[in-house]
Amino acid sequence: MVRIKQMIIVLIIVFSSLFYFDLKKQSIIDNFINSSISTKNKVNQYIKLSCDYIDLLSIYGNDYMNSPNYNIDSKFYDLSYDKVSNSYTLDKAFQKGYSKTVGNLTGKGNILNNSLLIKELSLALSYNKYFHSIYNTLPGLTWVYYTSVNEFINIYPWVPSSEFKYSDILHKKEFYTGALPEVNKEKQAFWTPIYNDAAGQGNMVTISAPIYYGKDFLGVVSLDITTNKFNSILNSEYNSFLLNEYGQIVGSNFNNHEMHNRVLYINDLLKKHKDNELNILKSLPDNKLLKWENNYIYKIKFNDAPWELYCILPIYKVIYEAFIAILPILVIGIFLIILSYEIDIRRKAQNSLKSIVEELSLTQNLLHRSASHDFLTSLLNRRGLFEKLDILLSDKNKPEEISFILADIDFFKKVNDSYGHSVGDTVLISVAKTIEKLVCNNDMVARWGGEEFLIILPNTPYEAAIKKAEEIRQAIEKTIIKHNSIELNVTMTFGVSKYDSSVSIDQCISNADKALYFGKNNGRNCVVGYEEIDS
Ligand code: GH3
Ligand code: MG
Ligand code: MG
Repeated sequence: MVRIKQMIIVLIIVFSSLFYFDLKKQSIIDNFINSSISTKNKVNQYIKLSCDYIDLLSIYGNDYMNSPNYNIDSKFYDLSYDKVSNSYTLDKAFQKGYSKTVGNLTGKGNILNNSLLIKELSLALSYNKYFHSIYNTLPGLTWVYYTSVNEFINIYPWVPSSEFKYSDILHKKEFYTGALPEVNKEKQAFWTPIYNDAAGQGNMVTISAPIYYGKDFLGVVSLDITTNKFNSILNSEYNSFLLNEYGQIVGSNFNNHEMHNRVLYINDLLKKHKDNELNILKSLPDNKLLKWENNYIYKIKFNDAPWELYCILPIYKVIYEAFIAILPILVIGIFLIILSYEIDIRRKAQNSLKSIVEELSLTQNLLHRSASHDFLTSLLNRRGLFEKLDILLSDKNKPEEISFILADIDFFKKVNDSYGHSVGDTVLISVAKTIEKLVCNNDMVARWGGEEFLIILPNTPYEAAIKKAEEIRQAIEKTIIKHNSIELNVTMTFGVSKYDSSVSIDQCISNADKALYFGKNNGRNCVVGYEEIDS
């Protein structure tokens, strides 16, 4: 019974813990997926904005070059040619105080009277208003620039030509080569691989788009974005990183402390993992919660960049957090089991105490009974009789009349001698029963001595007691006592006295004894009243 109760508690705890553990695990995973999607949305917003800006610059440039009319930009006249270096710059912008609103336009050779070049330079200069506002609205943007096939560049924000100016090396860079017609037939905007900025701005990625004059490739508009910007966008509670199609890390929120020194690859970020594990990771389907090594992985692709976002949740973390959540249930459960054990132990102790107490009181009753009753006949013994008599006489409403009958079996010794002691015992038991049957409830019957019985009759006048004694005498005389095959009957002699408050109880009994003695001397089997022999 005890076991079953504890088993039920254990089962309830196990099932509720498992249920809650699963629920918590699912909620942690759901939270992880939601956080992954929200991170993706933040990155996507940034990518989309960059793409929109580059599209704007590209559409503007193509329209500008392909429309028949245009105004020469006023800054064009501030371009200054340096014969020694055979190059031109907009270094004048600084002296004239408007260098904050324009980029520096630096180019190779002399401008001469080439109308197409003048138109293109005007386009590059008219870009300044867009460069300025884009630079101020897109955080993480380092440079925005137009690079021409005609060997010039307009780069915002403005830097003096002594620090940076157009060089042929720019035409070898990926932001430019990726826009060339033979590579980029679709004339699409594109993202470059990550590169470490020569000017010490850390790792960068560039989004570029080509500008055409009719069918002729003319140049490229570009936005340089620091990868630090992506690191900060990815700043969620879960490990996540952005991977480009070259296996490079565009941004991550862990293990990225080396980012400023060189370009990071996936192997740098997930150092503990082997190449084949990383290949499995890259081949996992997107928008699905998957297990990879000891992690949950959620992978999402982007529409506007060939990048993938990987969000990582270590499985041990899920189990640990779910376990912490069910800990209170386990603690309460263990407490309940201990409590129920305690209650059972206490109840057991209480029950055994109760049965000991019951046993004790039973023994006490038995003890008391054996102290106040005769073992053979179950009648009161002398002690028991005096106890009852004391109670009777100490009562305020004690009876006015009390009678005493002392009875003795005649020639009892002969019974013992003739039939044996056990027959004698049977006779004693039979006589006791006969007397008990004929007296009232309130009367007291005691075995006074060996074969002597004392009957005390409260509320019974002396005459009535004489009659009662006679009634008993006759009944005894008639009773056939059987013991095995032996049948016999006995007679008794009775002495009767009445209570006298002026003398002691012992005296009253002694009076009855005197009457009995009288009877014995006068032929036995008779009733003798003390009052009669006294007078
Ligand atoms: P009387 O008529 O004068 O009373 O003669 P009696 O033989 O009855 O009287 P006596 O006093 O000579 O003998 C009483 C006998 O009662 C003696 C004793 O062995 C016997 N007796 C006393 N107690 C018990 C008892 O508990 N069981 C048995 N079987 N006999 C007992
Ligand atoms: Mg006797
Ligand atoms: Mg006798």
